[in-house]
Amino acid sequence: MEKNYLEKNIETKCAVCGKKYKIAKLNLDPCPNCGWYNDLMCEEHENEVIYRNLVSLNKAKKLFAEGKPLRPSLEDFLDALNFYGEMEFTFTTFHCALFRTNGQIEFDLGTDETVFFNGKEDFIKNAKINGVYVRDIWDQVENPSYM
Ligand SMILES: [Zn+2]
Repeated sequence: MEKNYLEKNIETKCAVCGKKYKIAKLNLDPCPNCGWYNDLMCEEHENEVIYRNLVSLNKAKKLFAEGKPLRPSLEDFLDALNFYGEMEFTFTTFHCALFRTNGQIEFDLGTDETVFFNGKEDFIKNAKINGVYVRDIWDQVENPSYM
C-alpha cells in the first residue's frame, strides 16, 4: 500500500513561535500561527535566508517576538535570490522578476526593460523602478517571494 505523503499526521513544534501543529511527511505548509516553514536546514543555518523562508530563523524569532510579520528586508530578499536564483515581487503595476545570472542580478521589470547589477550592494544602491529606488519603496512592494 502506498503511503500518503500529504496526510497531516505528524506533530511538530514550530521553531519560531513554539506552537504545535500537524504536518504531512511531505511538509509543504507553513506554520498556521506565524507563517514559518519549519525546515531542518533553516534551523541548522539560523542566520541565513534559506528556501522556503524569506528571513533567517533568528530574524523570524525576533520579528515574531515583536509582533511583526515575517517579511523580508530588501537585503533578506537578495540573500534569498542568492540562495535560490529566481525571485519575484509586485510594485504598483510592475510585476518584477530577479534572476541570479553569472554572478550578476538580472532585474526584469515586466516591461521591455531588463537591467543588470553586479551583485547585492549594487542592486541596493542603484536599482530603480520608474525612477524610484527599490530600497525606498521596499516596504510597499507586494508578495515578495520565490518563483
Ligand atoms: Zn510558528
